[in-house]
Amino acid sequence: MSASRNILLLPGDGIGPEVMAQARRVLDWLQSTGRGRFEVTEDLVGGAAIDAHGVPVRDATVARALAADAVLFGSVGGPKWDSVPFEIRPEAGLLRLRKELGVFANLRPAKVFDALVESSSLKPELVRGLDIMIVRECIGGIYFGEPRGIETLPDGSQRGVNTESYTTQEITRVGRVAFDLARARQGRVCSVEKANVMESGLLWRQVMTALHAAEYADVPLTHMYADNCAMQLARNPRQFDVIVTGNLFGDLLSDLAAMLTGSLGLLPSATLGAVDAAGRRHALYEPIHGSAPDIAGKGLANPLAQILSLALLLRYSFGMTQDAALIELAVENTLGSAGRTADIPAPGRATLSTAQMGDAVLAELGRLG
Ligand code: NAD
Repeated sequence: MSASRNILLLPGDGIGPEVMAQARRVLDWLQSTGRGRFEVTEDLVGGAAIDAHGVPVRDATVARALAADAVLFGSVGGPKWDSVPFEIRPEAGLLRLRKELGVFANLRPAKVFDALVESSSLKPELVRGLDIMIVRECIGGIYFGEPRGIETLPDGSQRGVNTESYTTQEITRVGRVAFDLARARQGRVCSVEKANVMESGLLWRQVMTALHAAEYADVPLTHMYADNCAMQLARNPRQFDVIVTGNLFGDLLSDLAAMLTGSLGLLPSATLGAVDAAGRRHALYEPIHGSAPDIAGKGLANPLAQILSLALLLRYSFGMTQDAALIELAVENTLGSAGRTADIPAPGRATLSTAQMGDAVLAELGRLG
């Protein structure tokens, strides 16, 4: 029997614990049907950790995350903690975890389920079957570059500065993630920057081209300027398989791609670190939505993004591709046949609570499995 895998759950605040409870049920199902052996532990993060310990993440929690095979994160934040000092706000817990784990490649799949084709802001014929993956470098670039700040000029006016900066090593490591992913998907990578007007973009293009020639000549590589990429995502998104880009452009393009799929409550993400000599990598999985304080505690939250984040965890951290695909199929079938949570209503279908949506996915897993 395979070794037990160690998963740390960090449900967080607001709807985080509600949707995490449903993902936990799916984990328990996998375990009870002998598909995997997991050691699951849980800890506080975000506002919940501030309330209990005065910090958004404790050192002990960071140590547990570093020791875990994978971390499944919920969401953090809410009005209750709006007035805490900036350095200990709930989001600082997530930023610290990302930093300490050294996770640098944020994967945002944008997949349109057939049952939700009508929810997209684009015409059904443009998005039916859409399945793209945006790989965003997430710990470098303009959000972290120095110098930065707001300075006062001699005439008394002010100047705000941020610096876009990428090194060969930063581009190469995220490029490898994109090429490796493409090999397991449709096999195409589009690298996105603004090489026409930015030196950091020019270097990005040169490094990606060299990496492609040296290690990934079997994977077709194209380059695109970020503004054109935004246009192409809205015009003909199915032309893409894997898009790889820096922090700023990735931030914008992944939100644009998310809207092509229709609902925030359905979108998972993964953030991966480098593979070490033993073949291990730190990884953090989370839905892209926040803690949704407006619906927290009411049983209204859609748990599917959290459940799909678990599927990504199984695929990318444990190589359990069949089980990941099974969960994704169960979600897709549930969307096509069962009721829906309130965020994705369908005429004539019952409105399900968070737990009822969990029930429906588990029933479908039972039927498929
Ligand atoms: P949000 O994603 O929490 O909510 C935006 C809207 O989408 C709300 O109307 C909400 O009810 C709805 N929504 C979100 N997830 C849903 C789900 N699973 N099912 C049904 N409806 C859902 O974004 P926001 O309102 O801008 O932020 C709320 C709080 O979450 C803030 O404190 C923010 O800082 C935090 N936040 C945290 C993360 C994170 O933990 N990674 C990400 C984004 C926002």
